[in-house]
Amino acid sequence: MESTLRRTWAEIDLDALVFNYKTLRNKVGKNVKFLGVVKADAYGHGSVRVAQALQENGADYLAVSSIDEAVELRKKNITMPILILGHTPKEQVGKLIEYNITQAVTCKAKAVEYSEEALKCGKELKIHIKVDTGMSRLGYLCADRFFESGVEGIVDACKMPNLYCEGIFTHFAVSDEDDEESEDYTHEQFKLFTNVIEEVEKKIGRKFEIKHCANTGAVFGYPETYLDMVRPGLLLYGYGDYAIKLGLKPVMSLKTNVSTVKVYDPNTSVSYGRTYVTDKTTRMGVLPYGYADGFLRSLSNKCSLYTSEGLAPLRGKICMDMCMIDLTNLKGIDVGDEVEIFGKNNPIEKLSELAGTIPYELTCAVSKRVPRVYYQNGQIVERELMLRS
Ligand SMILES: *Cc1c(COP(=O)(O)O)cnc(C)c1O
Repeated sequence: MESTLRRTWAEIDLDALVFNYKTLRNKVGKNVKFLGVVKADAYGHGSVRVAQALQENGADYLAVSSIDEAVELRKKNITMPILILGHTPKEQVGKLIEYNITQAVTCKAKAVEYSEEALKCGKELKIHIKVDTGMSRLGYLCADRFFESGVEGIVDACKMPNLYCEGIFTHFAVSDEDDEESEDYTHEQFKLFTNVIEEVEKKIGRKFEIKHCANTGAVFGYPETYLDMVRPGLLLYGYGDYAIKLGLKPVMSLKTNVSTVKVYDPNTSVSYGRTYVTDKTTRMGVLPYGYADGFLRSLSNKCSLYTSEGLAPLRGKICMDMCMIDLTNLKGIDVGDEVEIFGKNNPIEKLSELAGTIPYELTCAVSKRVPRVYYQNGQIVERELMLRS
Protein backbone atom coordinates (compact mmCIF):
# COMPACT_ATOMS: atom_id res chain seq x y z
CA MET A 1 0.00 0.00 0.00
CA GLU A 2 2.55 2.56 -1.08
CA SER A 3 0.61 5.69 -1.85
CA THR A 4 -2.55 5.89 0.17
CA LEU A 5 -3.31 9.14 1.85
CA ARG A 6 -3.48 7.41 5.21
CA ARG A 7 -2.13 4.07 6.07
CA THR A 8 -5.40 2.52 7.15
CA TRP A 9 -7.50 0.84 4.51
CA ALA A 10 -10.38 -1.58 4.04
CA GLU A 11 -9.87 -4.61 1.81
CA ILE A 12 -13.12 -5.63 0.15
CA ASP A 13 -13.05 -9.23 -1.02
CA LEU A 14 -15.52 -9.33 -3.91
CA ASP A 15 -14.82 -13.05 -4.35
CA ALA A 16 -16.12 -13.60 -0.82
CA LEU A 17 -19.17 -11.50 -1.67
CA VAL A 18 -19.90 -13.56 -4.78
CA PHE A 19 -19.32 -16.76 -2.82
CA ASN A 20 -21.82 -15.61 -0.18
CA TYR A 21 -24.31 -14.60 -2.85
CA LYS A 22 -24.07 -17.97 -4.62
CA THR A 23 -24.31 -19.89 -1.36
CA LEU A 24 -27.44 -17.98 -0.39
CA ARG A 25 -28.90 -18.30 -3.86
CA ASN A 26 -28.47 -22.07 -3.59
CA LYS A 27 -30.10 -22.06 -0.20
CA VAL A 28 -33.22 -20.15 -1.29
CA GLY A 29 -33.63 -22.00 -4.58
CA LYS A 30 -34.06 -21.02 -8.19
CA ASN A 31 -37.68 -19.95 -7.95
CA VAL A 32 -37.05 -17.22 -5.44
CA LYS A 33 -35.73 -13.86 -6.59
CA PHE A 34 -32.78 -12.32 -4.80
CA LEU A 35 -32.64 -8.71 -3.66
CA GLY A 36 -29.28 -7.56 -2.30
CA VAL A 37 -29.52 -4.78 0.26
CA VAL A 38 -26.83 -2.21 -0.55
CA LYS A 39 -28.08 0.73 1.49
CA ALA A 40 -25.62 2.89 3.42
CA ASP A 41 -22.95 2.39 0.77
CA ALA A 42 -23.44 -1.37 1.00
CA TYR A 43 -22.98 -1.39 4.79
CA GLY A 44 -19.73 0.52 4.31
CA HIS A 45 -18.29 -1.81 1.65
CA GLY A 46 -18.95 0.51 -1.29
CA SER A 47 -22.28 0.13 -3.06
CA VAL A 48 -21.02 0.55 -6.63
CA ARG A 49 -18.59 -2.37 -6.60
CA VAL A 50 -20.95 -4.55 -4.59
CA ALA A 51 -23.84 -3.79 -6.95
CA GLN A 52 -21.66 -4.50 -9.99
CA ALA A 53 -20.70 -7.89 -8.58
CA LEU A 54 -24.33 -8.73 -7.81
CA GLN A 55 -25.49 -7.58 -11.22
CA GLU A 56 -22.81 -9.62 -13.01
CA ASN A 57 -23.83 -12.68 -11.05
CA GLY A 58 -27.52 -12.48 -11.77
CA ALA A 59 -29.13 -10.97 -8.69
CA ASP A 60 -32.64 -9.68 -9.38
CA TYR A 61 -33.02 -6.52 -7.35
CA LEU A 62 -31.15 -4.05 -5.17
CA ALA A 63 -32.37 -1.97 -2.25
CA VAL A 64 -31.01 1.36 -1.04
CA SER A 65 -32.22 3.87 1.50
CA SER A 66 -32.42 7.06 -0.55
CA ILE A 67 -32.68 8.44 -4.06
CA ASP A 68 -29.09 9.71 -3.90
CA GLU A 69 -27.85 6.18 -3.30
CA ALA A 70 -30.00 4.88 -6.16
CA VAL A 71 -28.90 7.53 -8.67
CA GLU A 72 -25.24 6.92 -7.79
CA LEU A 73 -25.72 3.30 -8.88
CA ARG A 74 -27.56 4.23 -12.08
CA LYS A 75 -24.72 6.60 -13.01
CA LYS A 76 -22.32 3.67 -12.67
CA ASN A 77 -24.29 1.54 -15.15
CA ILE A 78 -26.28 -0.48 -12.68
CA THR A 79 -29.33 -1.31 -14.77
CA MET A 80 -31.07 -3.87 -12.57
CA PRO A 81 -34.19 -2.86 -10.61
CA ILE A 82 -33.52 -0.75 -7.51
CA LEU A 83 -35.96 -0.30 -4.64
CA ILE A 84 -35.75 2.70 -2.32
CA LEU A 85 -36.73 1.50 1.15
CA GLY A 86 -36.97 4.95 2.71
CA HIS A 87 -38.77 8.17 1.92
CA THR A 88 -38.27 10.23 -1.22
CA PRO A 89 -39.61 13.81 -1.27
CA LYS A 90 -42.39 14.26 -3.81
CA GLU A 91 -40.34 16.84 -5.73
CA GLN A 92 -38.08 13.97 -6.78
CA VAL A 93 -40.73 11.77 -8.38
CA GLY A 94 -39.71 12.90 -11.86
CA LYS A 95 -36.19 11.78 -11.11
CA LEU A 96 -37.39 8.40 -9.82
CA ILE A 97 -39.20 7.85 -13.09
CA GLU A 98 -36.33 9.16 -15.20
CA TYR A 99 -33.90 6.73 -13.57
CA ASN A 100 -36.39 3.86 -13.45
CA ILE A 101 -36.22 3.48 -9.68
CA THR A 102 -38.85 1.69 -7.61
CA GLN A 103 -40.18 3.57 -4.61
CA ALA A 104 -41.56 2.13 -1.37
CA VAL A 105 -44.96 3.56 -0.49
CA THR A 106 -45.55 3.58 3.23
CA CYS A 107 -48.82 5.40 3.86
CA LYS A 108 -51.79 7.06 2.21
CA ALA A 109 -50.33 10.58 2.21
CA LYS A 110 -47.27 9.39 0.30
CA ALA A 111 -49.34 7.41 -2.19
CA VAL A 112 -51.43 10.49 -2.95
CA GLU A 113 -48.38 12.72 -3.39
CA TYR A 114 -46.56 10.24 -5.58
CA SER A 115 -49.62 9.62 -7.74
CA GLU A 116 -50.17 13.37 -8.27
CA GLU A 117 -46.55 13.98 -9.16
CA ALA A 118 -46.39 11.01 -11.53
CA LEU A 119 -49.56 12.26 -13.20
CA LYS A 120 -47.91 15.68 -13.73
CA CYS A 121 -44.98 13.89 -15.39
CA GLY A 122 -47.40 11.95 -17.55
CA LYS A 123 -45.57 8.76 -16.63
CA GLU A 124 -45.92 5.81 -14.31
CA LEU A 125 -44.01 5.40 -11.05
CA LYS A 126 -43.19 1.84 -10.03
CA ILE A 127 -43.90 1.20 -6.34
CA HIS A 128 -43.76 -1.48 -3.67
CA ILE A 129 -46.24 -1.20 -0.80
CA LYS A 130 -44.68 -1.37 2.66
CA VAL A 131 -46.81 -3.06 5.31
CA ASP A 132 -46.16 -2.48 9.02
CA THR A 133 -46.80 -5.87 10.61
CA GLY A 134 -45.05 -5.17 13.89
CA MET A 135 -41.77 -3.37 13.27
CA SER A 136 -43.58 -0.11 14.02
CA ARG A 137 -41.45 1.97 11.73
CA LEU A 138 -42.56 2.72 8.16
CA GLY A 139 -45.54 1.12 6.48
CA TYR A 140 -49.31 0.83 6.42
CA LEU A 141 -50.33 -0.09 9.96
CA CYS A 142 -52.30 -3.33 9.66
CA ALA A 143 -52.18 -5.04 13.06
CA ASP A 144 -55.35 -5.90 15.00
CA ARG A 145 -57.97 -3.17 14.78
CA PHE A 146 -56.04 -1.47 11.99
CA PHE A 147 -56.47 -4.42 9.63
CA GLU A 148 -59.47 -3.10 7.72
CA SER A 149 -58.19 0.45 7.38
CA GLY A 150 -54.73 -0.81 6.45
CA VAL A 151 -56.08 -3.05 3.71
CA GLU A 152 -58.30 -0.26 2.45
CA GLY A 153 -55.37 2.16 2.28
CA ILE A 154 -53.30 -0.33 0.31
CA VAL A 155 -56.16 -1.08 -2.08
CA ASP A 156 -56.54 2.68 -2.67
CA ALA A 157 -52.85 3.04 -3.44
CA CYS A 158 -52.99 0.16 -5.90
CA LYS A 159 -55.78 1.91 -7.77
CA MET A 160 -54.27 5.39 -7.89
CA PRO A 161 -53.46 6.74 -11.33
CA ASN A 162 -49.90 6.58 -12.57
CA LEU A 163 -48.70 4.28 -9.80
CA TYR A 164 -47.73 0.82 -10.90
CA CYS A 165 -47.80 -1.42 -7.86
CA GLU A 166 -45.30 -4.17 -8.60
CA GLY A 167 -44.66 -5.49 -5.12
CA ILE A 168 -45.56 -5.57 -1.45
CA PHE A 169 -43.24 -6.11 1.50
CA THR A 170 -42.86 -6.05 5.24
CA HIS A 171 -39.92 -6.12 7.64
CA PHE A 172 -39.28 -8.40 10.63
CA ALA A 173 -38.28 -7.00 14.00
CA VAL A 174 -36.81 -10.09 15.70
CA SER A 175 -36.21 -12.72 13.03
CA ASP A 176 -32.56 -12.76 14.12
CA GLU A 177 -33.30 -13.63 17.76
CA ASP A 178 -33.58 -17.24 18.76
CA ASP A 179 -35.88 -17.22 21.79
CA GLU A 180 -39.38 -18.57 21.61
CA GLU A 181 -41.14 -15.24 22.07
CA SER A 182 -39.24 -13.83 19.09
CA GLU A 183 -40.13 -16.86 17.00
CA ASP A 184 -43.80 -16.40 17.85
CA TYR A 185 -43.59 -12.72 17.02
CA THR A 186 -42.00 -13.42 13.64
CA HIS A 187 -44.65 -16.04 12.83
CA GLU A 188 -47.36 -13.53 13.78
CA GLN A 189 -45.82 -10.85 11.59
CA PHE A 190 -45.67 -13.26 8.67
CA LYS A 191 -49.22 -14.44 9.17
CA LEU A 192 -50.50 -10.90 9.26
CA PHE A 193 -48.51 -10.06 6.12
CA THR A 194 -49.99 -12.96 4.15
CA ASN A 195 -53.49 -12.14 5.43
CA VAL A 196 -53.13 -8.55 4.27
CA ILE A 197 -51.91 -9.71 0.85
CA GLU A 198 -54.76 -12.17 0.46
CA GLU A 199 -57.35 -9.55 1.35
CA VAL A 200 -55.84 -6.88 -0.90
CA GLU A 201 -55.43 -9.23 -3.87
CA LYS A 202 -59.06 -10.26 -3.52
CA LYS A 203 -60.16 -6.63 -3.57
CA ILE A 204 -58.01 -5.49 -6.49
CA GLY A 205 -58.57 -8.67 -8.47
CA ARG A 206 -54.95 -9.27 -9.28
CA LYS A 207 -51.81 -10.71 -7.70
CA PHE A 208 -48.73 -8.78 -6.66
CA GLU A 209 -45.76 -9.78 -8.80
CA ILE A 210 -43.24 -9.63 -6.00
CA LYS A 211 -44.06 -10.31 -2.35
CA HIS A 212 -41.06 -10.16 -0.05
CA CYS A 213 -40.08 -10.04 3.60
CA ALA A 214 -37.09 -12.29 4.37
CA ASN A 215 -34.16 -10.34 5.81
CA THR A 216 -31.01 -12.01 7.14
CA GLY A 217 -32.66 -13.68 10.15
CA ALA A 218 -35.53 -15.00 8.03
CA VAL A 219 -33.28 -16.21 5.20
CA PHE A 220 -31.43 -18.22 7.82
CA GLY A 221 -34.28 -19.50 9.94
CA TYR A 222 -37.67 -19.05 8.26
CA PRO A 223 -37.68 -20.58 4.77
CA GLU A 224 -41.48 -20.42 4.71
CA THR A 225 -41.18 -16.63 4.47
CA TYR A 226 -39.18 -16.53 1.23
CA LEU A 227 -42.30 -15.94 -0.94
CA ASP A 228 -41.22 -14.41 -4.30
CA MET A 229 -37.99 -12.76 -3.20
CA VAL A 230 -35.54 -12.68 -0.28
CA ARG A 231 -33.95 -9.48 0.95
CA PRO A 232 -30.79 -10.09 2.98
CA GLY A 233 -28.08 -7.57 3.77
CA LEU A 234 -25.77 -8.74 6.52
CA LEU A 235 -25.55 -12.35 5.31
CA LEU A 236 -24.30 -11.16 1.96
CA TYR A 237 -21.38 -9.43 3.68
CA GLY A 238 -20.67 -12.56 5.70
CA TYR A 239 -21.01 -11.38 9.31
CA GLY A 240 -22.86 -12.60 12.38
CA ASP A 241 -23.65 -16.01 13.82
CA TYR A 242 -25.87 -17.04 10.92
CA ALA A 243 -23.17 -16.26 8.37
CA ILE A 244 -20.74 -18.38 10.37
CA LYS A 245 -23.24 -21.26 10.55
CA LEU A 246 -23.78 -21.09 6.79
CA GLY A 247 -20.04 -21.07 6.12
CA LEU A 248 -20.11 -17.60 4.56
CA LYS A 249 -17.00 -15.45 4.33
CA PRO A 250 -16.41 -11.98 5.77
CA VAL A 251 -16.09 -9.49 2.91
CA MET A 252 -14.27 -6.64 4.64
CA SER A 253 -10.87 -6.75 6.31
CA LEU A 254 -9.94 -3.47 7.94
CA LYS A 255 -6.19 -2.99 8.13
CA THR A 256 -3.62 -0.48 9.27
CA ASN A 257 0.04 -0.59 10.09
CA VAL A 258 2.42 0.38 12.83
CA SER A 259 3.66 3.92 12.32
CA THR A 260 5.92 4.26 15.37
CA VAL A 261 7.27 2.00 18.10
CA LYS A 262 8.40 3.37 21.46
CA VAL A 263 9.58 1.76 24.69
CA TYR A 264 8.29 3.16 27.97
CA ASP A 265 9.45 2.70 31.53
CA PRO A 266 7.09 1.17 34.07
CA ASN A 267 4.55 3.62 35.49
CA THR A 268 4.15 5.68 32.32
CA SER A 269 0.62 6.84 31.54
CA VAL A 270 -0.63 6.50 27.97
CA SER A 271 -2.97 8.75 25.96
CA TYR A 272 -5.75 11.15 26.97
CA GLY A 273 -7.14 10.74 30.43
CA ARG A 274 -4.18 8.58 31.48
CA THR A 275 -6.45 5.54 31.68
CA TYR A 276 -3.62 3.10 31.02
CA VAL A 277 -0.40 3.06 33.05
CA THR A 278 2.44 0.69 32.14
CA ASP A 279 3.25 -1.91 34.80
CA LYS A 280 6.57 -2.89 33.27
CA THR A 281 8.92 -1.83 30.52
CA THR A 282 6.48 -1.67 27.61
CA ARG A 283 6.98 -1.65 23.87
CA MET A 284 4.11 0.34 22.40
CA GLY A 285 3.07 0.74 18.78
CA VAL A 286 1.18 3.77 17.47
CA LEU A 287 -1.38 3.10 14.72
CA PRO A 288 -2.79 5.72 12.32
CA TYR A 289 -6.34 4.62 13.12
CA GLY A 290 -8.71 6.48 15.42
CA TYR A 291 -12.32 7.35 15.99
CA ALA A 292 -12.39 9.61 12.91
CA ASP A 293 -11.76 6.44 10.88
CA GLY A 294 -14.64 4.69 12.61
CA PHE A 295 -12.96 3.09 15.63
CA LEU A 296 -15.53 3.25 18.42
CA ARG A 297 -13.94 5.06 21.33
CA SER A 298 -15.89 2.83 23.72
CA LEU A 299 -13.43 0.06 22.77
CA SER A 300 -10.56 1.93 24.48
CA ASN A 301 -8.56 -0.48 26.67
CA LYS A 302 -10.99 -3.28 25.77
CA CYS A 303 -10.02 -5.00 22.55
CA SER A 304 -7.01 -6.52 20.82
CA LEU A 305 -5.89 -6.13 17.23
CA TYR A 306 -4.31 -8.86 15.15
CA THR A 307 -0.65 -8.90 14.12
CA SER A 308 1.25 -11.67 12.36
CA GLU A 309 2.65 -12.69 15.77
CA GLY A 310 -0.72 -12.69 17.53
CA LEU A 311 -3.09 -10.32 19.26
CA ALA A 312 -1.89 -6.95 20.52
CA PRO A 313 -3.95 -5.37 23.34
CA LEU A 314 -5.18 -1.83 22.78
CA ARG A 315 -3.86 0.54 25.45
CA GLY A 316 -5.28 3.86 26.57
CA LYS A 317 -8.01 6.00 25.06
CA ILE A 318 -8.58 5.84 21.32
CA CYS A 319 -7.75 9.27 19.84
CA MET A 320 -9.24 10.93 16.77
CA ASP A 321 -6.52 9.79 14.36
CA MET A 322 -4.44 7.33 16.35
CA CYS A 323 -4.43 4.55 18.88
CA MET A 324 -1.80 2.53 20.73
CA ILE A 325 -1.21 -1.20 20.96
CA ASP A 326 1.04 -3.17 23.29
CA LEU A 327 3.77 -4.99 21.39
CA THR A 328 5.81 -6.07 24.44
CA ASN A 329 5.13 -9.75 23.78
CA LEU A 330 5.23 -9.45 20.00
CA LYS A 331 8.92 -8.79 19.57
CA GLY A 332 9.00 -9.21 15.81
CA ILE A 333 6.34 -6.60 15.08
CA ASP A 334 7.87 -3.31 14.01
CA VAL A 335 7.26 -0.07 12.13
CA GLY A 336 5.45 -0.71 8.85
CA ASP A 337 4.03 -4.09 9.85
CA GLU A 338 0.40 -4.78 9.05
CA VAL A 339 -2.26 -4.89 11.75
CA GLU A 340 -5.74 -6.31 11.15
CA ILE A 341 -8.43 -4.43 13.05
CA PHE A 342 -11.12 -6.88 12.00
CA GLY A 343 -11.36 -9.40 9.20
CA LYS A 344 -10.49 -13.00 8.48
CA ASN A 345 -8.07 -13.32 11.42
CA ASN A 346 -9.80 -11.08 13.94
CA PRO A 347 -13.55 -11.68 13.73
CA ILE A 348 -15.72 -8.58 13.68
CA GLU A 349 -18.24 -10.41 15.87
CA LYS A 350 -15.77 -10.36 18.77
CA LEU A 351 -15.13 -6.65 18.36
CA SER A 352 -18.81 -5.74 18.06
CA GLU A 353 -19.65 -7.74 21.17
CA LEU A 354 -16.92 -5.96 23.15
CA ALA A 355 -18.34 -2.65 21.94
CA GLY A 356 -21.87 -3.68 22.93
CA THR A 357 -23.07 -3.38 19.36
CA ILE A 358 -23.65 -5.35 16.17
CA PRO A 359 -21.33 -5.96 13.20
CA TYR A 360 -23.54 -3.68 11.04
CA GLU A 361 -22.50 -0.68 13.08
CA LEU A 362 -18.79 -1.39 12.79
CA THR A 363 -18.70 -1.76 8.99
CA CYS A 364 -20.98 1.27 8.52
CA ALA A 365 -18.71 3.27 10.85
CA VAL A 366 -15.61 2.85 8.65
CA SER A 367 -15.41 6.44 7.54
CA LYS A 368 -15.09 7.93 4.09
CA ARG A 369 -11.42 8.79 4.55
CA VAL A 370 -10.52 5.11 4.77
CA PRO A 371 -9.75 3.99 1.22
CA ARG A 372 -11.45 0.80 0.04
CA VAL A 373 -9.27 -1.62 -1.89
CA TYR A 374 -11.25 -4.08 -3.98
CA TYR A 375 -10.07 -7.62 -4.69
CA GLN A 376 -11.56 -9.78 -7.44
CA ASN A 377 -10.17 -13.11 -8.61
CA GLY A 378 -7.50 -12.58 -5.97
CA GLN A 379 -6.25 -9.38 -7.69
CA ILE A 380 -6.65 -5.74 -6.76
CA VAL A 381 -9.19 -4.31 -9.19
CA GLU A 382 -9.62 -0.87 -7.70
CA ARG A 383 -8.10 1.34 -5.08
CA GLU A 384 -9.74 4.44 -3.82
CA LEU A 385 -6.88 6.69 -2.94
CA MET A 386 -8.66 9.95 -2.39
CA LEU A 387 -11.09 11.19 0.18
CA ARG A 388 -14.57 10.33 -1.04
CA SER A 389 -16.93 13.19 -1.70
C1 LIG B 1 -31.73 -3.20 6.12
C2 LIG B 1 -32.92 -3.89 5.65
C3 LIG B 1 -32.87 -5.23 5.23
C4 LIG B 1 -31.63 -6.09 5.39
O1 LIG B 1 -31.45 -6.41 6.73
P1 LIG B 1 -30.36 -7.49 7.16
O2 LIG B 1 -30.59 -7.69 8.61
O3 LIG B 1 -29.02 -6.84 6.92
O4 LIG B 1 -30.57 -8.67 6.33
C5 LIG B 1 -34.00 -5.78 4.68
N1 LIG B 1 -35.14 -5.07 4.57
C6 LIG B 1 -35.24 -3.79 4.99
C7 LIG B 1 -36.54 -3.08 4.85
C8 LIG B 1 -34.15 -3.16 5.55
O5 LIG B 1 -34.25 -1.90 5.98
